[in-house]
Amino acid sequence: MPLLQRPLFNRPQRLGVPAGALTTVSAVTAPDLHDAADVIDLAQRVVGKAIRHLAASGGPDAHQVLAYDIAHASAQVETARALLDYGGKGDTEARITCAFAADMAHDLITRLCGRERLWGLDPAPMRDAHGFLDRFRDPAFLASLAETPGPLHLDSDFELVQATFRSFADNEIVPRAEHVHRHNDDVPEEIIGGLAEMGAFGLSVPAEYGGYSEGGDGEYMGMVVATEELSRGSLGIGGSLITRPEILTRALVKGGTEAQKQHWLPKLATAEVMAAVAVTEPDYGSDVAGIKVTATPAVGPDGSAGYVINGVKTWCTFGARADVLMLLARTDPDRAKTHRGLSLFIVPKPRGDSHGFEFAQPAGGAHTGGKMEGRPIDTIG
Ligand SMILES: Cc1cc2nc3c(=O)[nH]c(=O)nc-3n(C[C@H](O)[C@H](O)[C@H](O)COP(=O)(O)OP(=O)(O)OC[C@H]3O[C@@H](n4cnc5c(N)ncnc54)[C@H](O)[C@@H]3O)c2cc1C
Repeated sequence: MPLLQRPLFNRPQRLGVPAGALTTVSAVTAPDLHDAADVIDLAQRVVGKAIRHLAASGGPDAHQVLAYDIAHASAQVETARALLDYGGKGDTEARITCAFAADMAHDLITRLCGRERLWGLDPAPMRDAHGFLDRFRDPAFLASLAETPGPLHLDSDFELVQATFRSFADNEIVPRAEHVHRHNDDVPEEIIGGLAEMGAFGLSVPAEYGGYSEGGDGEYMGMVVATEELSRGSLGIGGSLITRPEILTRALVKGGTEAQKQHWLPKLATAEVMAAVAVTEPDYGSDVAGIKVTATPAVGPDGSAGYVINGVKTWCTFGARADVLMLLARTDPDRAKTHRGLSLFIVPKPRGDSHGFEFAQPAGGAHTGGKMEGRPIDTIG
């Protein structure tokens, strides 16, 4: 289906301003989705050529900086292309789309300027986009966008989700956010309880396990809308709260045994169990396949089969307050197996507070005892 219909959008009009006058033309700059689409096509050709050049000259391992830049540029090009659909819905939407396409093209030019040979391109490969950038990077044009929020085009169910979480954020989160931030406090329990009452922790838990998910793409949208509104109130005590249980929920739904699903999902849906994610390590973040924490089969103090987990994790949001950690560890000692040697564990732990947590497992039988400790990173600022 063609996305764009030329008659819908006017070509930009130019005012007759004297050469050199510091006057913008943006007051009359109308959005132009056809030009936006042309710029996006051009950017895609540039990125495509760079990808082929990268592949032919040793790949990402030989040229990491180039690979990094291409990955970012490619994501921006695809986002701009996806926005064309949105831009077709009205004038404000079209203006936002043009502004984003111009920003994408500007970012691409900045990345490759002076590195054209590295990218396998002739000099100034984006020069045909300059007229578009001239119109849609104009500060006055961008300022005009600040006046009207972009319509979200949510269906009525999601509008209700949005209104509900917006009101919770305004009434419960915003009034507490600054105090928590300034005083390095814990997330108030009333916020966790309030969100639990609203069913926020069960948005991705399938209905048969006590949640609200009926499957399909809609459940992702519900999470996005809710998280956006909570984050508007505060990322620290709102937006980040439902995302960690969500990660564990999705892992369980996809890879858990039936017994694990029956046991954990209903508790996650009601926030009886709060989860944190312990994946990142001091030396491994993006390169998650290289993590070093090990899990070795062992007999527990009560004689049951289990694992001894050994090593250090970092950046474990909500780690102290959480009742369980979703912990990634290496179960196959052969490091050459990278991600294929890793397993996910659900590790129950006692709740701690802003001072962290520490607990010990007594020795017993063949088990020599163990200790788990978490220390907080203070809020900056
Ligand atoms: C506020 C906050 C909360 C977090 N919460 C959690 C949590 O709850 N649980 C958890 O497990 N983790 C958490 N993290 C960790 C987060 O997932 C990692 O910070 C992230 O994966 C990046 O890893 P890193 O910090 O080691 O950076 P690195 O991986 O070292 O990256 C550093 C820089 O190098 C770039 N880079 C990385 N790889 C390449 C490459 N191959 N080529 C070119 N450039 C590259 C990156 O884009 C980045 O700019 C949190 C982090 C923050 C800041």
